[in-house]
Amino acid sequence: MYGDQLEVVCGCLVGGAGPAGMGLIFNALKSGALPDLTRDGLIIVDASPHPGTGRLGEYQITANSVGDVFLDCLRDPALREVFEPLEHSAAYWRIRDQAFVAPRLSDVGELLAEASKLVLDFIVQRYDVQVWSSTTITEVVSDDDAFQVWVEHEGRAQAILCRTLVLNLGGRQDPQHLLNALADQGLSLPPSTSIQSADTVLRMSASELREHFAPTLAAGGRFTVVGGSHSAFSVLENLASALQSVGLEELTLVHRSQIRLFYESADQALANGYEFDPVNDICPVSGRVNRSGGLRYRALDVGRDILERGRIGADGVRVHLLQTRNGPARQYERASQALAESNVVVQCTGYQPRIPELKYADGTPITLREVKGGLDSDPSGCPLDLAGRRLHGLYLFGLGSGLGIDPRLGSEPSFDGRIYGVWQFHNDASRAVIDAISARLGAAALAERGVPSRSLSERLDSGLPLFWPDLTPFKI
Ligand SMILES: Cc1cc2nc3c(=O)[nH]c(=O)nc-3n(C[C@H](O)[C@H](O)[C@H](O)COP(=O)(O)OP(=O)(O)OC[C@H]3O[C@@H](n4cnc5c(N)ncnc54)[C@H](O)[C@@H]3O)c2cc1C
Repeated sequence: MYGDQLEVVCGCLVGGAGPAGMGLIFNALKSGALPDLTRDGLIIVDASPHPGTGRLGEYQITANSVGDVFLDCLRDPALREVFEPLEHSAAYWRIRDQAFVAPRLSDVGELLAEASKLVLDFIVQRYDVQVWSSTTITEVVSDDDAFQVWVEHEGRAQAILCRTLVLNLGGRQDPQHLLNALADQGLSLPPSTSIQSADTVLRMSASELREHFAPTLAAGGRFTVVGGSHSAFSVLENLASALQSVGLEELTLVHRSQIRLFYESADQALANGYEFDPVNDICPVSGRVNRSGGLRYRALDVGRDILERGRIGADGVRVHLLQTRNGPARQYERASQALAESNVVVQCTGYQPRIPELKYADGTPITLREVKGGLDSDPSGCPLDLAGRRLHGLYLFGLGSGLGIDPRLGSEPSFDGRIYGVWQFHNDASRAVIDAISARLGAAALAERGVPSRSLSERLDSGLPLFWPDLTPFKI
């Protein structure tokens, strides 16, 4: 599979086989698009030795949806044969038993790992597909019509030339992003504050959290969480339950706007005494309150507890909520003081996409243009560079990149973030990408009509550098 200085060619490269990358593969299989996507060979590249789950199963929290939402990703007549072995899987039955409650993400991760392995084994046997595991994408070079993707496996470098590139390598939380967001509001942190990413904190067990934060706690240090989303409330709960027994008495949450709670309907929200904007907080398609941006399931329970009692649980850790924009009197000043006094600040203000070094063929570095919550991309996840030039053939829609709201599916007008979720990756988000890839590969095939096609394995077996008939190889 790997060879020194051998440049491999394929029509489509799926970089990153976490929930986003695998969502596209599942969707292509069930929608019958896999023959189109694999017409010039498909290579799936993932840094993990066991591609398929990404980070989702590592978060030590419950899902923000019921188990049935994940089962629905596997429920399709076209996938029945592939998933038959799941009948005997403990992971599958654990989620079946939690079909109407929110399961732990570790359980979801196990199910997705097993389902992904079945799908990958199935497609490798039947289509022109290769899975390159334990392989890291290090650099992407964009030429007019193709991408040269540099990968590393066991210390050896390899270039893959592809016409379409799906890049979902997960997200990162750059501390500078938090500092900039605070500075926009006239807020700052002392240089001595330790900024911890929610992503790291949420992947720690209770004993790891105790070990990690014990010195700060012993010194009477103050903890502040910044953000107002599902992650922020999950962090509050995990810190409280791990650290209360070793002396944690209070936490502070600094959030920009009102905490948003999800309700199935305006009537339900009113019955619970929840105040909302009757126009801006209601999805015009479903009638749900804060459909995209509201806290759900366990995070909703924690949020309600804190809003009603100022604590997590009956006699749990005290939580001070401080709203910095349009909040109650003096909350901005108190937030500013809390940040100035905090020894630990946990960043829960969203993700940026993890992207390898990206450049044009002439060596000019490429920076992708960002919008609030993700990348500035078209409905198929095709991004723009800072100069507004679209990178045709490149598609990103996973954590940190996201896709904007599709008005046909609906959302509350007040939500201006991005949508990330397993079900979306398996359905609407990847559908547009699959269509775009099929169209691009189809157009290339038309242009090359008459040139006999050889499978990816045949081309790799020939042991020689291989190129598209009408493409000049890159100078490396
Ligand atoms: C705390 C938290 C809770 C969430 N809860 C839910 C939930 O309950 N329900 C839901 O539907 N969604 C949830 N999400 C949103 C989303 O589904 C997950 O974030 C999901 O893990 C995103 O999938 P991804 O494939 O974009 O990224 P990841 O899961 O991070 O996967 C990235 C993949 O890329 C690979 N990779 C990384 N770098 C390289 C490289 N250089 N070369 C090759 N491969 C590489 C990794 O090995 C991995 O397989 C949650 C997100 C967060 C942050």
